[in-house]
Formats: sequence, C-alpha cells, structure tokens
Amino acid sequence: MKGVWFRKCLRLHDNAALAHAAAAAEADGELVVPFFVLDPHFDRSRVGINRFQFLLESLKCLDTRLRSEHRSRLLVFRGAPEAVLQRLFEGDGRFKLGSLFWERDTEPYARERDARVEALAKQAGVHTAHFSGHTLLDIDSVVAAQGFKPPISMSGVQAMVAAAGPVKEPLPVPRLPPLPADGLEVPDISELYADAPTSRCFPGGERHALARLRAVCADAGYVCGFEKPKTASTGRPGKPWEPSTTGLSPYLKFGCLSPRTAWHEVARCQRGRAHSKPPQSLHGQLLFREMFYVLGACVPNFDKQDGNRMCKEIPWGENPEMLTAWAEGRTGYPFIDALMRQLRETGWMHHLGRHAVACFLTRGDLWQSWTVGRDHFDKMLLDADWAVNNGNWLWLAGVAPFSAPYFRIYDPCPGERSSLNAEQTGEFVRHFVPELKDMPARYIYKPWTAPAAVQKSAGCVIGRDYPAPIVDHKAAREANLARFKAALEGSKSGHMPEKFGAAERDPGPMQSAFARPLAPPSAAAGGRGGERPSGGAKGRGKRPEPHAGAGQAEGGGAAGGDAASQGPPGKGRRRWGPASAAGSGKIWQALGAGAAGAAGASAAAAAEVGRAAGG
Ligand SMILES: Cc1cc2nc3c(=O)[nH]c(=O)nc-3n(C[C@H](O)[C@H](O)[C@H](O)COP(=O)(O)OP(=O)(O)OC[C@H]3O[C@@H](n4cnc5c(N)ncnc54)[C@H](O)[C@@H]3O)c2cc1C
Repeated sequence: MKGVWFRKCLRLHDNAALAHAAAAAEADGELVVPFFVLDPHFDRSRVGINRFQFLLESLKCLDTRLRSEHRSRLLVFRGAPEAVLQRLFEGDGRFKLGSLFWERDTEPYARERDARVEALAKQAGVHTAHFSGHTLLDIDSVVAAQGFKPPISMSGVQAMVAAAGPVKEPLPVPRLPPLPADGLEVPDISELYADAPTSRCFPGGERHALARLRAVCADAGYVCGFEKPKTASTGRPGKPWEPSTTGLSPYLKFGCLSPRTAWHEVARCQRGRAHSKPPQSLHGQLLFREMFYVLGACVPNFDKQDGNRMCKEIPWGENPEMLTAWAEGRTGYPFIDALMRQLRETGWMHHLGRHAVACFLTRGDLWQSWTVGRDHFDKMLLDADWAVNNGNWLWLAGVAPFSAPYFRIYDPCPGERSSLNAEQTGEFVRHFVPELKDMPARYIYKPWTAPAAVQKSAGCVIGRDYPAPIVDHKAAREANLARFKAALEGSKSGHMPEKFGAAERDPGPMQSAFARPLAPPSAAAGGRGGERPSGGAKGRGKRPEPHAGAGQAEGGGAAGGDAASQGPPGKGRRRWGPASAAGSGKIWQALGAGAAGAAGASAAAAAEVGRAAGG
C-alpha cells in the first residue's frame, strides 16, 4: 500500500506527494491510503477553536472530494504521529504501508517529527518520498545552494526566486484507485472543544480556497491595481469583518491552496495589462511569504530573542496585566481593542491592523516582548504560520535587520491621514466593540476625550463601561523611544549590536522605497513631539511602507498628511473601500456577504479555478 500522509497540503490540486503515490500505485497495482494524523501536540493550549474548526472543515472537504470524485476517502488517525506510523508500518490488520509519501514541512517541530518517522520507516523497510510544495521555492535546496545568503529585502527574495527559474505550473489532480474502508472519520469539533467556534468568514477547505481565488481573480482590475499600502485595515464599507485584501492566508497556511496556483492565477490576470509590482502587488505579498520561509529555515533560533542573529537584544518589560488587556481587547484604545477582538472572534486581522497591535504591544506603547504577542497570534490566527508569524513580529518589534526604523511608531488613534487606513465613520469599532456602539464618530478612536454628557448619552462612561487608556500614548511612546535608543547604544558597535557584524546602520531593506533618507532617531523623537516620520514625505503626506508592501508608521495625525486626503469627497479625498486601487466589489459579491463568506461562492466558480488549477 502507498500511504499519503496529509499534514499541510490539504488539497488534491498541485499535490506532488499524492501525484507520485498515485503513479506508483498504478504501476504496482496497489492501493493508495490517504490519511491525516490528529496529533495531540496541537491541542487546545496551542490552537484556538476557530483554527481547529478550519482544520476539521478542510479535512472534511478533502474527504468529500476523495469520496465523490475518486471513490476513495481520508482516514483520520489519532495519536502521536510516530506511534500511528509505527502501527501502519507494521500493519494494523487493515492497512500495512510499503511506502509513504508526504509534502515537506520546514517548521522545527515538523522537521523533528519527520526525522523520527523517517528513522522508523527505515527500520521497518518502508520506502519514503517527500516533495516541496508549500512554497514557491524548494526551501531546503535554496538554503543549501552554494553562495546562499539570507534574503532580508524584497530585491533579495526576488533574485532568489528568479534564480530558481520560472515558478512551476501546478500539477493536475491525479486519478486515484478506490479505497474501500470504513471508520476513522473526520471528528466533529464538539468532540474536542467544549465551546463553539465563532469564525464565519473563512470556511475551511480546498473548495472554498479555490472559490476565493477564483473570485479574487475574476476582478482583474483589483488584482492588477492591488497595492497593499492602500488597502483598509478596517474591512469593507458595510462589512467591517470582510478583508479588503484577498483573505487567502488561512488557505495558504493549511495548503488548501497551492502557492503556485495562486501565483499563476495572479499572473494570468496581469498578462497584457498594466499592473502593480512587488513589494506592493499580490506577487509581492507571496514573495514576502517566501522570504520568511527561507529565513525560518536558515536562521537558528528564528523564534527567539537569544541566539537569533535577526534579532536585536532589547530589555523588554514583563507585565502580565498589560498583556491580558491587549489580548482581550481591553486597552481603552478602541482601534486596538476592535482589532484584538476581531482576532478572537474571527481568527483574522488585516495586515495593517497586525502592524498597529504589534507596534502597540512592543516598542510603541506597552513595551512587552514580541515573543508574547507572537504566541497569542500563534494560537488565535486562522493563518498562524511559524515562519511568517515570527518574521513579521521581528519586523514590527523593530529588532530585525529588515525592520522599519524603530522610531516610526503608529498612533493607536488613527486619523484620516494615518497610513493605517482606518475608516472614520466608527463602523469597524462599533461592530467589534459594542460598548461604543452609540459613541459619535468624532470620538470613536478617542472616547475619553468626549465630554461627560456625550459619554453618558452614548451609554458608555469611560472608566465604567469601557476602560480608560491603559497608558498615555504620548508619554509611553517617548519613554519607549528612549529605552530602545539606549538599548541600541549599549551595544558594542555604538550603532548596531555586534551580531550584525560590520554593519553600521540598520537601514531596513526597503530603504530604496523612500524618497529621501530618514532623519536620525533623535530628530524624530525630539522637540516637535510629533510622530510624523521625518524625511522624505514632508508636505506630501504618507510615504510608501517599506514593510511587507503595507502601511508605515505615522505622525499621529500631525502635519505632513496625505495631500489626496485633504480635498472634498470626489476630489482626491481618500475613499474607504475595497483596495482603493481598483476593487469593484465584484469579488465580495461573488463570495457572498460576510457571514456567508466564501460559502456563498458558486460551485461553478470553484470548478473553474479547479480546472485552471488542474482540479
Ligand atoms: C505581527 C504580524 C504577524 C503576522 N502573522 C502571520 C501569520 O502567522 N501567518 C500569515 O499568513 N501571515 C501573517 N502576517 C502577514 C499578513 O498580515 C497576512 O499574511 C495577511 O494579512 C493575510 O491576509 P490576506 O491573505 O488577505 O493577504 P494578501 O495581502 O491578500 O496577501 C496574499 C498572501 O500573501 C502572503 N502575505 C501577505 N502579507 C505577507 C507578509 N507580510 N508576510 C508574509 N506573507 C504575506 C499571505 O500568504 C497572504 O495570504 C503577519 C503580519 C504581522 C504584521
């Protein structure tokens, strides 16, 4: 029997392990046994209920497709993978594997697990074969190549992808032999968790993944005009829970969607049309994903402060009460609280929202370590991904060589000119922070400034019905800037910690995106007291974000605002909407409104992308 061990890669399209197993089984006249192992390592302490539900839905989708299209099915075993695999190698009465196929996983836990399974297979004389497929690049080959250098910039990762040759076309769905077997069904979430899941925007599974991709790519204007820094952190007008970006991340995380399929579908949309470019474009976003996968695979201790050459040592504080208030969305800053409650409720948050809350927790306001924020994200996000999560937290905490300068701090009360692109009607906050549902828009991001009578008539007295700000932003920001600067100056080089070698400055990889060099920290932190980024943007408003193709820290509503945002509506004033670049709203109609989410996407749409994807 040929076993196919599904771990990520929860899909039939572009699945090299499945394709090779099917071909080998056909040649040998054997059965293919597709299976998943519910590993107790990923239990309730590590995985929030919404992500677990997403996983179970994805398994169910796989099982349904295998049954309906191949008269096969997915078997779900429970237990430590080594123990389960040992039984399957020895033969458990029904199944005895002679060979085992899987997609490679470069996360540290997976590497150790797979090494143990590999050793067991060798002992049992079972042949194993593994394939790269979770990323565009074959990460291990890239890292092992002669002259390899860790990419810390978009140009670095672009060069790496270009050197690997054209991104391979996705593989078609293979033909599988029937598998007559009963039992070992996909469990219901109620068997595993006491509560009920709350996320409705992202139903798990390959069909929904392909339907979402199809819906995104049906709007070529949206794809070609996609510029991450212009997308709203606060969802879509009338649907604050609906991403202004593609919302593909949970599907990419679990491998319900192949990155190669996504890449080629985007490329097809762009062909023959003018389109945005990395780092802002959709290809740019997928390239950031590659960059973090490569770094995660080659940088020892990538998930730690100690022994991590991508992390400056900063003496972060430790305040469990602050951490809890942040995690529960009780900081008294409505923008931050709405985002954190969105995370808890839906398992998703816009990239700029993640910027805002990560900056707030670390160097911006609360001075807590990025690792504690990372852990909370790791549990709550549907798309929690070891390499990408660590890489982005390092970036946002200001500690990595690829970070934006540490002194660019976001104002947690975003005004109209903020690069956090937060809508100004209050709709987003009211949806996720119902205590503030009757607070007038002008006070929505700073409710403590509302006169007592206004608070009373809104039914939300600050300090009683909703918390007062956990810290004074201006004071916290100044204190933190001084601490960060002192930590950097304490390093031996005077500018950069010794571990950065000969480097004397930390320009950040996207420095080239800035029109002029940044002013030194002392200038930004001093005198004017503003949070406006000094340098290039003066008088011209926001600058393009050097990070991950998205927003940049700002001036706290100070001068230097977006010229386009100052005119009347229709005359250049920013409109809050689908990726302001081009979104026509078609995508989101196709996906159905909000709670129905991708569930509403037509089967025909799914089938179409499925065909394009070889599915
Ligand atoms: C502190 C912090 C933590 C994060 N943790 C995660 C995480 O655990 N998992 C995760 O997938 N993303 C993470 N991100 C990156 C990013 O926020 C999400 O990938 C993005 O918001 C997902 O929404 P989308 O699919 O609509 O993205 P789109 O903008 O539509 O982008 C398409 C795809 O590109 C990839 N991508 C986009 N932005 C990034 C990025 N900055 N880095 C790497 N890949 C990117 C994702 O796979 C995404 O689905 C984090 C960002 C921050 C600031």
